[in-house]
Amino acid sequence: MVRVVDAEHFLPGGELPDDPRVRRHALRIARFIEYGGPLRPGQTREALIECPCKPKRRACSGLLWVRKTPEDRIEAFCPSCRSLQYVISNWQGTLWAEGPMEPLDRVLPATVRRPLRRGARAGNRHSRCIGQSGDREGTRPDCAASGVVAARGS
Ligand SMILES: [Zn+2]
Repeated sequence: MVRVVDAEHFLPGGELPDDPRVRRHALRIARFIEYGGPLRPGQTREALIECPCKPKRRACSGLLWVRKTPEDRIEAFCPSCRSLQYVISNWQGTLWAEGPMEPLDRVLPATVRRPLRRGARAGNRHSRCIGQSGDREGTRPDCAASGVVAARGS
């Protein structure tokens, strides 16, 4: 089943929603944007995202690929089971449109690293929050919710 998605619907304001009921799906869409956003139209790349399909009731072992269409949409598809999963539009204003964040030259303070939930990676989205949020003294609502607070004055 192809899901035609307007990214703004799942990532309001270009960010992850706090609502846990939609956050998981929003994260999935954000990952496709992160992989596919930097591509030029017509380019494609593999994403480390498992295919959710179960053809003939057996889990597909394929990984999804993303493709940038000539219309500047991002498609996610599985070459193994040949399923088109997503067509994403209106993704350009999201936090992930330019791909993975740039590496940081410093280690995050322990007080920042510790509260990251299992599965979250230091040096990924949370550290992107640091330095982009001067109007809130280094915090953003999604980071504050998970206990991550940017180090000040560093
Ligand atoms: Zn598949």
